[in-house]
Amino acid sequence: MAVPRILIVGGGYVGMYTALRLQRKLHRGEAQVTVVDDDSYMTYQPFLPEAAAGSIEARHVVVPLRQVLSSCRIFSGRATSVRLADRKAEVKPHEGPELTLDYDYVVLAPGSVSRLLPIPGLAESGIGFKTVEEAIHLRNHVLGRMDVAASTTDEEVRRRALTFVFVGGGFAGVEALAELEDMATYACRFFKGIRRTDMRWVLVEATDRILPEVGPDMGRWTARQLSERGVEVRMRTLLKSAENCHIVLDDGDAFDTDTLVWTAGVKPNPLVRAGDLPLDEKGRVRATPFLRVEGTDFAFTAGDAAAVPDLTRPGQMCPPNAQHAVRQARRLADNLLAALRGGGLRPYRHKSAGSVASLGLYKGVAQVYGRELRGYPAWFMHRTYHLMRMPTLNKKSRILADWTLGLFFPREIVSLGAVQNPREEFTLAARM
Ligand SMILES: Cc1cc2nc3c(=O)[nH]c(=O)nc-3n(C[C@H](O)[C@H](O)[C@H](O)COP(=O)(O)OP(=O)(O)OC[C@H]3O[C@@H](n4cnc5c(N)ncnc54)[C@H](O)[C@@H]3O)c2cc1C
Repeated sequence: MAVPRILIVGGGYVGMYTALRLQRKLHRGEAQVTVVDDDSYMTYQPFLPEAAAGSIEARHVVVPLRQVLSSCRIFSGRATSVRLADRKAEVKPHEGPELTLDYDYVVLAPGSVSRLLPIPGLAESGIGFKTVEEAIHLRNHVLGRMDVAASTTDEEVRRRALTFVFVGGGFAGVEALAELEDMATYACRFFKGIRRTDMRWVLVEATDRILPEVGPDMGRWTARQLSERGVEVRMRTLLKSAENCHIVLDDGDAFDTDTLVWTAGVKPNPLVRAGDLPLDEKGRVRATPFLRVEGTDFAFTAGDAAAVPDLTRPGQMCPPNAQHAVRQARRLADNLLAALRGGGLRPYRHKSAGSVASLGLYKGVAQVYGRELRGYPAWFMHRTYHLMRMPTLNKKSRILADWTLGLFFPREIVSLGAVQNPREEFTLAARM
């Protein structure tokens, strides 16, 4: 009898944790698991802000799929469509022709992408904050702009270089801004002629609150904390235009910047629209409480791309966060195994425990099981919680080592922006 083929599309939180569990629980020869991902690694996104600030080495926040999923087949490429009707997926490898993969069971876990709005200049001038590459770029970029500002006599260039704009006051935006601002403030002591007051850090948020994940009180406290640190927190404000990096806000303010970070929400990965998947009004794959794709008994889904009913809040869907993604992955893997073996499936149920966020070294905010924490205790909880959650002992140890070294030695303030053009030096030499 042919071995059942399980295809997992996306090797992020849901994809990697599902594959890990299947790898552990499947008997030899019981099924063949293939994981398709554009990247060959899973990114632990909650650590991206600390990676951008240099508190953690960027390579330590990603988990190589081939290393941890040694019993699975890893396919590096982009799925371009998944069809339920004939159980096929089209996959585009990094090079060479597109392939068709047949499957018996499929797990749809492509996550989400930045939700851009049709704002003039945004796509050309902005950058998101979802990938490790973006985190590395931003770190190099911020320190690089400080280098530029410290070395120019042109006031206009200097002002522009030292203006940093973040749009979107959710987790990603607030944590990224807070961590990078903290790093830049520290770095000022080594840049003669740049004081903290010379830098302009602006957080633009459309609604009247930031960090909704930690509740209204903690959101207000965070806004006050950031303001006391000199960050301009502009609530009830919209970005109207960003053409040629000239920022125009709807309150009439306008200024130039070299740094525009867009973190104003995410939307389901557009892959889910390419095929015959049932979608809800927000474009998410419709899931049953058993994490099956609605109307099927062989397709499963979870995470940011899925609309999973939240059984603890009837009528609502689970929010797109890692807390749910990692737990859904466990339930999904067990339900898939049950389907494979002809057993009973169990519904997914998890009551949100709250949220923790880091706001720079020794600074944080948290709301956990209704308890609110701020400052050092929240920051410590953020680090402890995520360290425990980080996959593999190898990565845990490396991150712990990064933090321990950070206690005894000064922070790194070097900008390696040139890695984006590594051949520049060589081609220059060829012309000499
Ligand atoms: C900066 C930041 C900080 C965050 N902090 C927190 C936090 O503190 N707490 C919390 O609970 N949540 C946090 N989140 C949210 C959390 O990371 C996500 O909810 C979680 O990653 C969702 O898991 P997922 O598996 O659905 O998607 P992902 O983990 O994003 O995985 C999707 C995977 O699919 C792959 N993929 C995409 N398209 C294709 C394709 N066409 N073909 C093949 N593969 C594809 C991607 O490469 C990726 O590996 C944060 C997110 C960000 C960006």
